[in-house]
Amino acid sequence: MTIQNDSSYSQSGARTISAADLRSTIRGRVILPDKAGYDQARALFYGGFDRRPSAILRVADAADVARVVSLARETGSELAVRSGGHSVAGHSVSDGGLVLDLSDMRGLEFDLEQHTAWAETGLTAGEYTTAADAHGLVTGFGDTGSVGIGGLTLGGGVGYLVRKHGLTIDHLLTADIVTADGKLRRMDEDNEPDLFWAIRGGGGNFGVVTRFQFRLHQLNSAFGGLLILPATPEVIAGFMAEADAAPDELSTIANVMTAPPMPFLPKELHGKLVVMAMLVYAGAPESGERVIAPFRALATPIADMVHPMRYPEVYPPEPEGYHPVAASRTMFVDSIDRSVAEMILEYLQASTGFIAVAQLRVLGGAMARVPVEATAFAHRNSRIMVNVAALYERPEEKTTHESWATKFAASLQQGDDGAYVNFLGNEGEERVRAAYPGGTWDRLRAIKAQYDPTNLFLLNQNIPPVGQ
Ligand SMILES: Cc1cc2nc3c(=O)[nH]c(=O)nc-3n(C[C@H](O)[C@H](O)[C@H](O)COP(=O)(O)OP(=O)(O)OC[C@H]3O[C@@H](n4cnc5c(N)ncnc54)[C@H](O)[C@@H]3O)c2cc1C
Repeated sequence: MTIQNDSSYSQSGARTISAADLRSTIRGRVILPDKAGYDQARALFYGGFDRRPSAILRVADAADVARVVSLARETGSELAVRSGGHSVAGHSVSDGGLVLDLSDMRGLEFDLEQHTAWAETGLTAGEYTTAADAHGLVTGFGDTGSVGIGGLTLGGGVGYLVRKHGLTIDHLLTADIVTADGKLRRMDEDNEPDLFWAIRGGGGNFGVVTRFQFRLHQLNSAFGGLLILPATPEVIAGFMAEADAAPDELSTIANVMTAPPMPFLPKELHGKLVVMAMLVYAGAPESGERVIAPFRALATPIADMVHPMRYPEVYPPEPEGYHPVAASRTMFVDSIDRSVAEMILEYLQASTGFIAVAQLRVLGGAMARVPVEATAFAHRNSRIMVNVAALYERPEEKTTHESWATKFAASLQQGDDGAYVNFLGNEGEERVRAAYPGGTWDRLRAIKAQYDPTNLFLLNQNIPPVGQ
């Protein structure tokens, strides 16, 4: 779509609209290429996506969302949908099309008797978590505060409560969505049940979700923090075994990675491999102390910042303007023993990225107790999620790091060839299918055909409607 300063006209399919008309279409803000703030508004968390949308529409409410969806449909413009801007594949910014940006829609209402919350999708995980904690309540999101609840929830949501309370979608009670026809629909287990099934894992394929209603859990205290251990095969394998054996209250993320120059790490370790693990025990600190003791005993910790905490401390402040470029792969594996740990260390050592990381998340617990077919997230029985990544600065190094990531991921394969959709990059249709194994893919395609037959919502890990 072309945006003109004054008049508007139609021209052989490529529609032009005036800026004034665009402004009068929505109550929210219109950010055009010549405006201050445009470059910031089109930037995503990850660098390397230099795309220039014709307009960024910061919608104010569901009616605005419906108008933008209709505008995109009627004009044939490519439509990107953005909540927190953390798309690993860069899907939330379009080149030449429209960006529907929900970041001004941050309403949040708690029902403290029912322990539920209505949350608009422009909120970040950190904002929601801090507000809920003021009432001693929590809903589980991911490991990073700035990630949007929009994208994270629609893919599933794996975080520090995954073993205790399940995925983020396992807290989801109701959602409001604007579908491709511009209609606002409410869905839950009884209303539009197929659509409700599909959005719990199917990503942004089915419409623009404006609000989620989540269940909250009481959590007055927690115990956790960073535990930094030497990166040896014994420590890595031992950590995985302990994390698997631990009670559901404990969820962990072990990052085997190049140590960044952080003040609490001895200078001689900067740039060397360490196990930087985050442990979160969702329960009383005294019990947490006992459960975490075996991790502390794996080796003399390089740093031990595990302490009684409020849950929002899982989201420390993040650096401004940090836009790393990453070559990454995601997968599930069954076990990480000493020999797998050795291989992980060898690959990380060989990377020429300024940071190389293998992120290991032991799953199970509440997530695995939900039947596989209950939602479009179909990896409930997978044991461990692994994300490998090399962060780099110079675009010309892309091939080197991508090839390293491909080989690393292939070497780690143990037979579970599934993928978590939210960590997929631009890896082709086969990997999108890997996110939706078995009958999940066919059911999603049928639901897509019902709600988005022309594939208006294409800029995502795309599920083509049946017939396309
Ligand atoms: C640093 C980092 C840490 C992460 N940690 C975790 C983690 O611990 N656990 C985890 O599960 N995931 C994690 N992720 C992955 C994250 O869940 C996905 O990248 C997710 O898509 C980001 O959501 P967003 O709203 O910020 O992204 P956006 O870039 O705004 O959106 C991504 C895509 O989601 C869809 N979308 C977003 N909002 C809506 C909406 N309201 N309606 C319809 N479609 C929408 C669109 O297709 C869009 O292209 C992490 C990502 C990063 C970059």
